[in-house]
Amino acid sequence: MGDAVQRGPDPRRHVPSVAAMLDDPRLRGHNDRLGRSIVKAVARDVQQVIRQGDLAPQEAVDAIIAALPEQASSLRAVHNATGVIVHTNLGRAPLSQAAVEAVVAAAGYTDVEMDLADGHRARRGRFTLSVLSRAVPQAEAVHVVNNGAAALALAATALASGREILLSRGEFVEIGDGFRIPELLSSTGARIHEVGTTNRTRLADYAQAVGPQTGFILKIHPSNFTVRGFTAEVGLAELATLGVSVVADIGSGLLAPDGLLPDEPDATTALKDGASLVIASADKLLGGPQAGLIFGAAAEVDSLRRHPLARALRVDKLTLAALEATLTGPRTPVRQALQLPLAELQERSQLFAKSLRGHGIDAQVVPVEAVVGGGGAPGTVLPSCAIALPSYLARRLRAGTPPVVGRVVRDQLLLDLRCVLEADDDQVLAAVIKAEAA
Ligand SMILES: *Cc1c(COP(=O)(O)O)cnc(C)c1O
Repeated sequence: MGDAVQRGPDPRRHVPSVAAMLDDPRLRGHNDRLGRSIVKAVARDVQQVIRQGDLAPQEAVDAIIAALPEQASSLRAVHNATGVIVHTNLGRAPLSQAAVEAVVAAAGYTDVEMDLADGHRARRGRFTLSVLSRAVPQAEAVHVVNNGAAALALAATALASGREILLSRGEFVEIGDGFRIPELLSSTGARIHEVGTTNRTRLADYAQAVGPQTGFILKIHPSNFTVRGFTAEVGLAELATLGVSVVADIGSGLLAPDGLLPDEPDATTALKDGASLVIASADKLLGGPQAGLIFGAAAEVDSLRRHPLARALRVDKLTLAALEATLTGPRTPVRQALQLPLAELQERSQLFAKSLRGHGIDAQVVPVEAVVGGGGAPGTVLPSCAIALPSYLARRLRAGTPPVVGRVVRDQLLLDLRCVLEADDDQVLAAVIKAEAA
């Protein structure tokens, strides 16, 4: 006790209280923008630094302002320099500017379930659904749920609970993070009736399996792997001849055939071929928000839409807004990345590497392959190029602001600018220069 007196005044007596710091008028705007709890948490950290004697008390407020996050959400925008266009760990499809603006506009009160003409209740998502219908005229009806897996669960529950889903052994797919489609289907109370073998399944195998217990035949597109060699599978048109419902999980949400991705199935063709329901994700090749799209015969779509479970899988207004804007708006960022001419990318990459060399950083442009990723076009590789850098930069770039995520191959960090907006090249360049200096 007496020791403290002998050493002079206790430094803790000069530590400002959190309340006093938060009362500073310079923090008022930040309080309003981020909320008091975030500012308070940062103030506590700063208080600790002062207590340790590493910061003068009069610098407290400046230190708080410097340490405040840019927004109230912890999710951080990152630059995707991996060359993987639909990267599930990076949030799959980035929204178009039109979709972003639609989300912002829908964020407050909206007429999502009200007809403003008469003030009565209106069908939720009606505008989005009608745009979706127009995009796939082959579909008698459409419905939207939270994601592709939700659409599958709803179809299994509404059409096959307590009954059988016929599924080829070649389509027992794990979609990622340990989630397996057959297990998802079984969890709904439907029984999986396995058909054929891993590499070969024939129409006769399905025909033999069809019976009074059949809910539907499920055809799952292998969206994250390819099977080669001695293989055989049955197309939708043949399955449709068996006299039971056929549900096609096409994975990626192509609405119509796409010349760029000839091996990817699409909703229009699947319906033409006789599928009674088509299920797809909206945040893969369609380039929209996370959602599960359901197209098909009116009776089937209706029984899904009216099932009690449908309410638990309902999409929110932000998703509806983003989806509509994705469908009506300009080319999505996913599409732009897919269609980016190699020569253009090479030119950008050369400029980028040259600038880095100007800063004394060893950077070379090397040929690489980009992929669609995220459960789409598994066999498709896009000739691409990347800026090769020392791999120690990978960690520093991920830790930067904004973070840049590249791909480490052996001892090199590869930055593929295909999925980086050209307008952001300078930001990524500055990040590399900063990372090298760190
Ligand atoms: C991606 C995918 C799913 C899952 O869709 P989510 O939107 O991720 O829930 C299901 N089936 C296939 C074939 C897929 O590619």
